[in-house]
Amino acid sequence: MNLWTEGDPVADTAAPDGPIETRWERRQFGAKLVNPANRRKLTIIVVGTGLAGGSAAATLAEAGYRVRSYCYQDSPRRAHSIAAQGGINAAKNYRNDGDSVYRLFYDTVKGGDFRARESNVYRLAQVSVNIIDQCVAQGVPFAREYGGLLDNRSFGGTQVSRTFYARGQTGQQLLLGAYQALERQIAAGNVEMHARHEMLELIVVDGRARGIVVRDLVTGEITTDFADAVVLASGGYGNVFFLSTNAKGCNVTASWRAHRQGALFANPCYTQIHPTCIPESGTHQSKLTLMSESLRNDGRVWVPVQAGDHRAPADIPEAERDYYLERIYPSFGNLVPRDIASRAAKNVCDEGRGVGPGGLGVYLDFADAIARLGRSAVEAKYGNLFEMYERITGEDPYVTPMRIYPAVHYTMGGLWVDYDLQSNLPGLFVVGEANFSDHGANRLGASALMQGLADGYFVLPNTINDYLAAGPFPAVSSSDEAVVAARAAVENRITSLLSVNGDRTVDSFHRELGHIMWEYCGMERTEEGLRKAISLVRSLREEFWTRVKVPGTGEQLNQNLERAGRVADFFELAELMCVDALHRAESCGGHFRAESQTPDGEALRHDDQFSYVAAWEFTGTGEPPVLHRETLDFQYVHPSQRSYK
Ligand SMILES: Cc1cc2nc3c(=O)[nH]c(=O)nc-3n(C[C@H](O)[C@H](O)[C@H](O)COP(=O)(O)OP(=O)(O)OC[C@H]3O[C@@H](n4cnc5c(N)ncnc54)[C@H](O)[C@@H]3O)c2cc1C
Repeated sequence: MNLWTEGDPVADTAAPDGPIETRWERRQFGAKLVNPANRRKLTIIVVGTGLAGGSAAATLAEAGYRVRSYCYQDSPRRAHSIAAQGGINAAKNYRNDGDSVYRLFYDTVKGGDFRARESNVYRLAQVSVNIIDQCVAQGVPFAREYGGLLDNRSFGGTQVSRTFYARGQTGQQLLLGAYQALERQIAAGNVEMHARHEMLELIVVDGRARGIVVRDLVTGEITTDFADAVVLASGGYGNVFFLSTNAKGCNVTASWRAHRQGALFANPCYTQIHPTCIPESGTHQSKLTLMSESLRNDGRVWVPVQAGDHRAPADIPEAERDYYLERIYPSFGNLVPRDIASRAAKNVCDEGRGVGPGGLGVYLDFADAIARLGRSAVEAKYGNLFEMYERITGEDPYVTPMRIYPAVHYTMGGLWVDYDLQSNLPGLFVVGEANFSDHGANRLGASALMQGLADGYFVLPNTINDYLAAGPFPAVSSSDEAVVAARAAVENRITSLLSVNGDRTVDSFHRELGHIMWEYCGMERTEEGLRKAISLVRSLREEFWTRVKVPGTGEQLNQNLERAGRVADFFELAELMCVDALHRAESCGGHFRAESQTPDGEALRHDDQFSYVAAWEFTGTGEPPVLHRETLDFQYVHPSQRSYK
């Protein structure tokens, strides 16, 4: 059986052409407006209250729209964005080190291994400067230099310092800013907030996204909600791998349900494996912990020169250490992009030079930085991360180098959107990590927060007007056929999950699925491995539906039931990720196909065949999806072999 079929190309018809510097301005001018009195007649559902959804809901409500906001946590400010540590990029050039909008644009297109849209990335770089002003105005306590200016540090894939940060808690501080803006609108009566509600289905009426079906996670009640437009800001799907740096609750359900209703899913195989995470310590573990990339500003990565050298790090003399990133990539050193650093760590571990239990670790050493800057300066920059490391490992990183290893961290793939952030389903907009985004095949550090806030504060509030100008759309009623069907689908699924009554826990299935994905669709992929993964995922999915045990009922708080629904969707997504990875017989960014590498082991793209976004159409569970290609056109940053040497 074919694993996929070919469909018509897909095009981003919303993107203007002409000079790149004025495309966004021209799109804003060309987009229709909705006058303030009419905005009050229009309702928007926003699913998600992280940086993307929180900023979008607050801004849309501030503009006068009626907004209804949803999240599954008990408070909007518990969205996973709160975990972001290292920082947020912006082309402010405060350091006067040669940065500019164009350089941020260039770094991001190159960093994404030439698999992102130039128009989107340029707009992102332009808008980045506004984000910092917005957040400062909200009172976000960015780190400052002695003279009072905002401080910057560097992240991977750049040679300038453009990352704004609030110690190792940047996401938390930014989210508190967005949350306060949201709360202000809740208090003003412009946003109706529904925490502890999970969207389980998208409602599409006459070809337009018009509502959602949600489950109250406390009472189990199923309800429907209708609006003129639906915005998904539901985050990334890294937890398909079971172990990742994401919060345990992160899942794909909102996006996947929309995909099943016709929204295209783009580049699902592009997964970011972050090089600096605390290594896995055993089978009891349910998540992994990130050590922010910012640590690579001052930490030096090394392993012993000799394979099988089990001496304590302090006993290994300088001459017997291999600072392999500095050796292989002298221009960028420890600040090479994540895909490159992760693969390099894997390579030295594969050579038997890894450190710690199982040889799956490399050192991140701060001895030089402490000698140069003093312990208190290092503590001021990274104190909370060092403390977190010590609590988890029992080792003091001021004295002993940290041990780190790559782990799943971010997903560049997501629902396909055009320049307006609208999916192919009219009225369905997707922002933040949930869309397939501006990062191509590899996201540079500190760019997710930038994209989420660009989408929510600046892009969507402009582009959505163009769609809503044609509204209000005809009223939707609970008895409409599409609504009845969507609601019944949710109820039937819950009944099915509860009635299997098998003998295996949801988590045991999730863990096994994660193993398959990590083994065959993780840091290195091969055709043989991906074909094997597809068959393993399929049979495990079938087993899930005959053996899963979901205790409790649907009319109560039931976290097993919540997880079961999410894992069921992960199964379908996992298969699509493997199909996407299989069809893309090239290496690019986070997608490394062993068959396609340069003589020195770097990712080898095939621009003649794969310079496109792969947008997949759902045709049924286990049925071959349809591939729609969106050709990428590079007029400014011409594709070349990416080099950080
Ligand atoms: C440990 C860690 C550190 C990071 N550090 C950085 C960093 O320093 N810099 C950087 O740029 N990026 C960083 N990232 C990436 C960045 O944090 C995320 O990409 C970003 O915060 C995602 O924001 P979001 O708003 O798109 O989604 P999220 O913050 O994940 O929010 C998703 C929202 O959707 C809701 N939701 C999801 N599904 C449903 C549903 N079915 N029904 C109802 N609600 C739903 C959730 O309740 C939540 O409110 C980090 C990521 C991790 C894991």
